[in-house]
Amino acid sequence: MNNILLLGANGQLGRSFLEHDALSTLGNVVAASRDGARFDGAPAEVADLSSPATLPALLDKVRPGIIINAAAYTAVDRAEQEEPLATTVNGEAVDVIARWAATNHALVVHYSTDYVFDGNAIAPYAVDAPTAPLGAYGRSKLAGERALRASGANHLLLRTAWVYAPHGHNFLRTMLRLGAERDELRVVADQQGAPTSTDLIVQATCAALAAWQHAGITQRAAMQGTHHLVASGHTSWHGFAGAIFDKAQARGLIPHAPKVLPIATADYPTPAKRPAWSVLDNQGFQQRFDYALADWQKGLDHVLDTLAKQAR
Ligand code: NDP
Repeated sequence: MNNILLLGANGQLGRSFLEHDALSTLGNVVAASRDGARFDGAPAEVADLSSPATLPALLDKVRPGIIINAAAYTAVDRAEQEEPLATTVNGEAVDVIARWAATNHALVVHYSTDYVFDGNAIAPYAVDAPTAPLGAYGRSKLAGERALRASGANHLLLRTAWVYAPHGHNFLRTMLRLGAERDELRVVADQQGAPTSTDLIVQATCAALAAWQHAGITQRAAMQGTHHLVASGHTSWHGFAGAIFDKAQARGLIPHAPKVLPIATADYPTPAKRPAWSVLDNQGFQQRFDYALADWQKGLDHVLDTLAKQAR
């Protein structure tokens, strides 16, 4: 069986890959993290993407047929002060990984972001829409995209957005915490996107990988490249918060839903500018891999069901 190297095993997405059975049916999963430990205490390989020169030794040791890169510098605001580090992790390390993959005929599955766009569109972004990042994080992720394409490696470059999970740092968990403490919250209402659960990303990625493994050379040529892997539909952060509270209350996760007041981005200044329109056209992914990407509300139901089960 193929070795599948999973980088970033302890992030929102990496952990979901390990908690889900789907990946292990596709190959022998080797998890790697920055410090060589997994979230559940099990050991992992060490892969520190801030030291790209150390990565080929790990790749030579594991010899993966598939590399899933769920590791990234994701601190959007801090990146404004730490752009060189963000670029090393999100750009240079991807370059090293991709060049190893090109030489060794491995497939790279890599995740990118809506932040490569400026958010001035009014219709869902096509995969080949012009990129124009607003900040350092988006620029660093765009550097990774370019390096991967230039490497000549077979790749699935999957752009996603507004990612959340039952674990990790994300908007849903922040809302549940604040909602339990306060009667009223002010949430940005003029940014649009598709909240996308890691569960959806894991399942859809595994479906794409299964299709890849069964495909011939011509089919693979049509599959590889950039795809938008996001839930269907869209809402604002304000709309997402309202849905979180309604659904969380219905499941007994919070005693009562706080009032959610809409505010403008201008009322909530942050060091990094965010795109106002983060909606990505996911039709291409659905057609190419014959995989339906459900509406964002479905993913939210599923994650809240998981949290309700854990709370019992
Ligand atoms: P997280 O921030 O939850 O996880 C990122 C992981 O990368 C963490 O485990 C972190 O390690 C690891 N990491 C950071 N720096 C390094 C490093 N130098 N070496 C090794 N590992 C490192 O991110 P997500 O799971 O949410 O993101 C997955 C992918 O999706 C990323 O490519 C991200 O850019 C993309 N994305 C995410 C969005 C979101 O809303 N979160 C939106 C759009 C795209 P540690 O645990 O040690 O800190």
